[in-house]
Amino acid sequence: MNTPGKLKGKVVVVTGAAAGIGRASSLLFAQEGALVAAVDRDPVHNIEVVEEIRNRGGIAEALTADVSSAADVEAAVRQIIERWKRVDILFNNAGIVTGGKVHTLKEEEWDRAFAINVKSTFLFSRAVIPQFLERGGGVILNMASSTALRAAADRALYNATKSAVLSFTKSMALDYAADNIRVNCLCPGTIDTPSLNVRLNANGNGGELRKQFVARQPLHRFGKPEEIAKAALYLVSEDAAFVTGTALQIDGGMAL
Ligand code: NAD
Repeated sequence: MNTPGKLKGKVVVVTGAAAGIGRASSLLFAQEGALVAAVDRDPVHNIEVVEEIRNRGGIAEALTADVSSAADVEAAVRQIIERWKRVDILFNNAGIVTGGKVHTLKEEEWDRAFAINVKSTFLFSRAVIPQFLERGGGVILNMASSTALRAAADRALYNATKSAVLSFTKSMALDYAADNIRVNCLCPGTIDTPSLNVRLNANGNGGELRKQFVARQPLHRFGKPEEIAKAALYLVSEDAAFVTGTALQIDGGMAL
């Protein structure tokens, strides 16, 4: 693997690394010289990503964890620090989409969506920040969505979780700026990932839904996971040394 090295020697944790945006980001970060701790609840696809990185000459470890479990998160961070002595960068990417108008949603769906999309961000940040403080800095990148900035139909719960991530990002950025800890978030539009295709095909009317989703984006196409990975690389690298508290839209104009 050719390592131009924007992240050379950096220990980077990526959650939800086994698929979609997390997978593309893990591959790109490793290509840039990072030691990638790939965290996912899906061990099968996660190890495939790690093997792909290793086959290309990169360095990665797979860790199985449910990001909404404090015990799992603490154990994962402990293992990473035992292995590589530190964490330099945290990418809180894992998330789920829960559809449905409010009157159709179950309480368990509400709790699960907030646990996986929001609480996970708190748990992982809490686990790495003490050693960021000891070591004089660090970087956190959170995964929000274009729908944190504008409404999208049938996604009230999902959109609320992503607005919470955005608000949490800005508050953490302010609280830790003096400690040299940068905290930003990404706001992607609709990105062509395996789980998007599952959602599009779930109601048997995938073609029509696909057209509607494409129409929401003025650039008139879905984004690619690799396009989000490039934005993630920018925000976690030294190129963004003066950037904190930002919600970066990469959404084909969706939030306009
Ligand atoms: P994806 O479903 O393709 O991949 C998500 C990964 O997270 C999977 O590997 C899954 O196993 C893992 N995961 C889910 N819940 C987990 C848990 N509790 N513990 C550990 N791992 C867990 O998703 P994606 O489309 O690549 O999206 C990644 C992130 O980007 C999510 O936060 C999503 O909300 C956000 N996002 C996606 C889009 C899009 O259109 N794809 C748009 C905006 C924001």
